[in-house]
Amino acid sequence: MKYFIMFGPPGAGKGTHAAPMVKKYKLKHISTGELLRSEIAAGTELGKQAQALIEKGDFVPDVVVEGMIANTFAANPHVKGFLLDGFPRTIQQAIDLDEMLESRDEKVTGVISLMIPDEEIKARIKGRALVEGRADDANDETIANRIRTYHAKTEPLIEIYKEKGVYHEINGLGTIEEVQQRVFDLMDEIC
Ligand code: ADP
Repeated sequence: MKYFIMFGPPGAGKGTHAAPMVKKYKLKHISTGELLRSEIAAGTELGKQAQALIEKGDFVPDVVVEGMIANTFAANPHVKGFLLDGFPRTIQQAIDLDEMLESRDEKVTGVISLMIPDEEIKARIKGRALVEGRADDANDETIANRIRTYHAKTEPLIEIYKEKGVYHEINGLGTIEEVQQRVFDLMDEIC
């Protein structure tokens, strides 16, 4: 089974590029952000707890996102592989993912990292707010907090995956088609 991680700051285009990737490479997409938003939309207890954190730009607890990941792994025993999007986001989550995979005798196949500068992050998230209406995209302080948190908590994962020899960086600037082509070229190499 293959385990790919879509990595990058908020607004880098992880979700945009994940959709055609899962189709082309026959993977199961796991977006922790999307899973959390559907819990919120369904008004579940988990959704209610997550909503306040997400709207401030804070992370939801590891146990919550890791439970969603474990459930999706368990519910899809026959897929070719998974594309994790938005997970792991902290060193602890990366350690926990390694443990989950080790218990299945598996490891991370590749990390596809979409890189864009902070200024571009802000511009894209503001544009997306007008289209998708996400509350966490509409507020400047929330966006700033997400960018700060990305640099402080998520960026350190780059070194971890470089050391494992599975880290691949892609320039996330350009048209969607241009970036998509870069992603496909890379996947063709590592898949
Ligand atoms: P973006 O990539 O634009 O930040 P996501 O949809 O991936 O958007 O995530 C939205 C929010 O959901 C995050 O800001 C965070 O609050 C929460 N979230 C998503 N994934 C995780 C995770 N792995 N750990 C903790 N919180 C998460």
